[in-house]
Amino acid sequence: MIDLNEIGKSLKEKIARAGEQPGHSTGRIVYSGDGIIKIAGLSDVRYNELLDVRGGYRALALNLEHDSVGAVLFSGEDKVRYGDYVYSTGKAVEMKVGEALLGRVVDPLGGPLDGLGEPEAAETRPVEFPAPAIMDRAKVDKPLQTGILAIDSMIPIGRGQRELIIGDRQTGKTAIAVDAILNQKGENVVCIYVSIGQKASSLAKTVNVLRAGGAMEYTCVVCSTADDAVPLQYIAPYSGCALAEYFMYRGKDVLIVYDDLSKHAAAYRTMSLLLKRPAGREAYPGDVFYLHSRLLERAAKLSAEKGGGSITALPIVETLAGDISAYIPTNVISITDGQIYLESELFNSGVRPAVNVGLSVSRVGGSAQRKAIRQISGQLRINLAQYRELAIFMQFGSDLDGQTQKTLSRGAKLTETLKQKQYRNYTVREMIVLLTVAQSAVIDEIPVKKIAGFNEGLLAFMRADKASLLGDIDPDAAVSVGLREEILAAAREYMQYAFGGEDADV
Ligand code: ATP
Ligand code: MG
Repeated sequence: MIDLNEIGKSLKEKIARAGEQPGHSTGRIVYSGDGIIKIAGLSDVRYNELLDVRGGYRALALNLEHDSVGAVLFSGEDKVRYGDYVYSTGKAVEMKVGEALLGRVVDPLGGPLDGLGEPEAAETRPVEFPAPAIMDRAKVDKPLQTGILAIDSMIPIGRGQRELIIGDRQTGKTAIAVDAILNQKGENVVCIYVSIGQKASSLAKTVNVLRAGGAMEYTCVVCSTADDAVPLQYIAPYSGCALAEYFMYRGKDVLIVYDDLSKHAAAYRTMSLLLKRPAGREAYPGDVFYLHSRLLERAAKLSAEKGGGSITALPIVETLAGDISAYIPTNVISITDGQIYLESELFNSGVRPAVNVGLSVSRVGGSAQRKAIRQISGQLRINLAQYRELAIFMQFGSDLDGQTQKTLSRGAKLTETLKQKQYRNYTVREMIVLLTVAQSAVIDEIPVKKIAGFNEGLLAFMRADKASLLGDIDPDAAVSVGLREEILAAAREYMQYAFGGEDADV
């Protein structure tokens, strides 16, 4: 007997499933606006799963609720409509990884932004990935040289460390990160520059600098500009980190810059508010700490059994009016292993890089510092602090005794020595020369105004005429008394030559 009811039921079921992709569940959009969609009927979907929207658009499932799924669209926010079908994919968001990405400028999903075609990467990695376990980590013991004297001497960074660069707008934050990348030339370090929500023009400038400096050979730029969809800005740092992990788990050292996490937090806030999640302090959602902690925990130095690779992270955070106690700055300060604090006042008074030495620290890099640098920069912080304290008193203009005058003059000259132009990185040996001279009696004979020129000239002189002495300096051994004398003798020789023997003090 043919049961018509039975046939009718089975036909209805088939019709209901029409348009469905095999193996995955299907739902339909019941709300769409501001890049956010709500989907009803999507039964089998996980948090952070990639969704396919009819028309070839992609979305990220973020809110799993009782009767609907809230998702953010990566593209096509003005194209998707009420009633469109949405398919689950069973996959997380993935980033293309591989050597092919070096030298490229890509979006957070690995798509090309430099007009050079799709990167030929065979592999992908999920953008969200668990951080290495405690037992898989090793102590940070190798330096990551930035080439910036003030940083390498007083706030040293080790491979596998997370060091925050924090400061107001236009204080040279990006400049430090870019100089650090440029300095990795020939050091066998892969660099990744993640740009989050920056102006396209600033980003173009940075890419040009990297290209001109020959740094693109070992660098990948992952970017989402200010006019990209908010979800792209949100996943950009995780995508960059996935690429970094590809290299780290192959035993390589990686330097990754997140420029900047304030804009990242703002993008996440926008998304959360649109998804109608409850807002907390400064209108950020409650999980904004986790947003950055899970990202920065992925930076690590792996143990030898795990290949010994590392990810050094330089997150950047922008402050408002120097307020480092705001929500995002305090969060990120507590997650990182130290911070480089840049100050507008210093920057404007010509101290560039505008590092506030008193408020900057590196909690793990010290043990990774090269021995010679460690030896001769031991007193730097104290000397500078003493100088600054005295300099404030000096404004009252009382008579100064000899010792005070000396501290003041040495301090001023040390500050002058620590000033450094952009793209003028020093090698470790050059740093040793500069620091040795700046803390010796030789410097007393040079007026403050001439220090910058003297240092530059001295290094050129050493490279040309004293190459063997420069070569004799071993960064991994203590500077012996003999070597110190030789360096100072060379400095005196150059001074004779530069100033013609005239004693030019102030
Ligand atoms: P933003 O907040 O816009 O991102 P930022 O803090 O990243 O700014 P940079 O863009 O790095 O700052 O630098 C601001 C300006 O200062 C740039 O024009 C840069 O060339 C200049 N600058 C940075 N560092 C130095 C330096 N050491 N010497 C001279 N000029 C510098
Ligand atoms: Mg910047």
